[in-house]
Amino acid sequence: MRITIIGTGYVGLVTGTCLAHIGHSVIGVNRHPQKSSQLNQGKIPIYEPGLERILAGARRNGKIRFTTDLGQAVQSSDIVIIAVGTPSRRDGSADLQQVRQVAVQIGQALRKYAVIINKSTVPVGTARIVGALVKKHFRGKFDVVSCPEFLREGSAVRDFLRPDRIIIGSESSRATQAVLQVFRNIPGKKVITNIETAEMIKYASNAFLATKISFINEIANVCDRVGADVEQVALGMGLDPRIGQAFLRAGMGYGGSCFPKDVRALNTIAGTKGYNFRLLKSVIEVNNRQKNILLKKVKKNLKNIRGKKIAVLGLAFKGNTDDIRESAAIDIVRLLQSAGAQISVYDPAAMPNARAVLDGTVKYANNSYQAVVKTDAVIIASEWEQFKKLDWSRLRQSMRGNLIVDGKNLLNRSILERLGFRYVAMGK
Ligand code: NAD
Repeated sequence: MRITIIGTGYVGLVTGTCLAHIGHSVIGVNRHPQKSSQLNQGKIPIYEPGLERILAGARRNGKIRFTTDLGQAVQSSDIVIIAVGTPSRRDGSADLQQVRQVAVQIGQALRKYAVIINKSTVPVGTARIVGALVKKHFRGKFDVVSCPEFLREGSAVRDFLRPDRIIIGSESSRATQAVLQVFRNIPGKKVITNIETAEMIKYASNAFLATKISFINEIANVCDRVGADVEQVALGMGLDPRIGQAFLRAGMGYGGSCFPKDVRALNTIAGTKGYNFRLLKSVIEVNNRQKNILLKKVKKNLKNIRGKKIAVLGLAFKGNTDDIRESAAIDIVRLLQSAGAQISVYDPAAMPNARAVLDGTVKYANNSYQAVVKTDAVIIASEWEQFKKLDWSRLRQSMRGNLIVDGKNLLNRSILERLGFRYVAMGK
């Protein structure tokens, strides 16, 4: 099928490339000519394992190209996918400015029937807003379908090509058939429902996962007080299939470009409809507090943070990505700085993004070994596999102090204590 995807960020680029990989003819639209020309040369602006390789294959087969010309792309496609950003507004609600703008642009460009698929995470009712905006500029027939995306950064290609489910919120059988054609070679249960339900499924899923994380963080905080080990607790709990192991890792709280904004948005949606979603409010509060719990652990073990040298390993909101949006690691750096610490940092992929937001006094190291030289403490703030494999005895020798505060419960206490470290984790 001929598909245009508008927005070539984490979701749009992965979606477009994967759809080209399974044989569709895809045009990716973005706003920057330089980005388009780099993508047309196969250079990807984000860190996403496996993406460059399948983009190269799709380009070789002539299945994908990138442009800034939205009008021409829309006119030559049967399917138009919206994958633009929906960041938080100050009041916590979703900012739909990019979605609205794209809807107007699609309406202005359309000349014939097309199915408009919304993949951005949006409040219930947005597909209808998109439909109304398109209709203002295009009098012909078209359909809007809600198809929320569930891929995770770091494993996005695999998640897209092998999803657990594909949600199709549609009110037109013609559009539903077209969307089933788009995903015809992709496994996973197809759930066909109405538009409002599809939009809600995405928020409900993210809110539930965030709830699991805040729940296990609360359990970790109690474990710290009673001498239990949260990892063993999570294992014991998760073996019950009604609970499951996933998302029961205690740490510094959830971050990233989705959970924080989507949980806030759902809380705001409920509020505007006169419903007080108490549980979600607590999920948010617990998550915000979790960074301060880590900070307290650093303070307690270093006595005084002022003047101390601290290395923060990991800046991305999790391992395997360069995304620092709402990263707890970035907040930790700032909290430590305002407490008077001198900070050195290392992240395998997120340093360029971090440089753009952190202040100039942070020292950027070329690797973990360089980051820890003469430091009093190391904080693990993203779960990169490579941090587990470091030569920790070498790190110990080049440090001034011996404290590790493991905000992600990534490392092995007994090995580190044998090397002479003081190892402090979250809830164990
Ligand atoms: P992103 O910020 O990485 O990408 C959005 C892109 O859209 C940007 O590159 C922006 O320049 C582009 N854009 C905006 N307006 C445009 C226009 N008029 N024409 C062309 N391009 C335009 O965001 P993302 O992380 O890819 O997320 C996109 C949506 O998908 C959000 O609603 C998000 O909540 C949702 N989502 C994200 C993830 C994730 O892991 N990142 C997972 C599932 C769902």
